[in-house]
Amino acid sequence: MHILVVEDEVRMAALLKRGLEEEGHVVEIAANGPDAVWMATETDFNAIVLDVMLPGFDGFEVCRQLRATQHWVPVLMLTARDDVQDRVRGLDVGADDYLAKPFSFAELAARLRALDRRGSEVRPPVLEAGDLRLDPAARRAWRGPTELQLSAREFALLELFMRHVGVVLTRTRILEQVWDLAYEGGSNVVDQYVAYLRRKLDRPFGRSDLETVRGAGYRLRQPEAP
Ligand code: CA
Repeated sequence: MHILVVEDEVRMAALLKRGLEEEGHVVEIAANGPDAVWMATETDFNAIVLDVMLPGFDGFEVCRQLRATQHWVPVLMLTARDDVQDRVRGLDVGADDYLAKPFSFAELAARLRALDRRGSEVRPPVLEAGDLRLDPAARRAWRGPTELQLSAREFALLELFMRHVGVVLTRTRILEQVWDLAYEGGSNVVDQYVAYLRRKLDRPFGRSDLETVRGAGYRLRQPEAP
């Protein structure tokens, strides 16, 4: 396999490279977020071993950017600890698997073999909720037979809701996941975009699936099939 290791700690990166090369892999190293995105975009790797903590921007952002630009190379994220939040966040941004540090090299090698068996066409499945469908790979969404015309931001927002049907999402969480971490506007941008989304998702169909939960945030109710 041709593997990209993304890790800024020099000793850890060297250790991973040597170990993986001993297993017969070809390994390249990126030491920060921007380099990782650039290398993964330029080269077809079979897998990426991606540390969460990186200079530039972190591993979540690397993964998010790759998926947003239609790169489906399998990603194994290395989290600092067995942190549920990190794991959930990793899967939310499109990572395929994760491994908590410290880990055994044998386990890392086994996870990579499993990812390789799944192939590099690890496209996310189409999400469904009632008569709503969303295809993350094709960037298309439908209500019943009607395709929804969504902006990139509206699409990302709907995707987040569809990954958490029935769950109340706070404005802060929505901001973190749909807007860049560097975004410094107020959280009322979330209210604004939820309103846009309702205009396309609910109103034309006489529905109100995207609910306001007073004092908490928003929730996509499990929509009933019409
Ligand atoms: Ca690191």
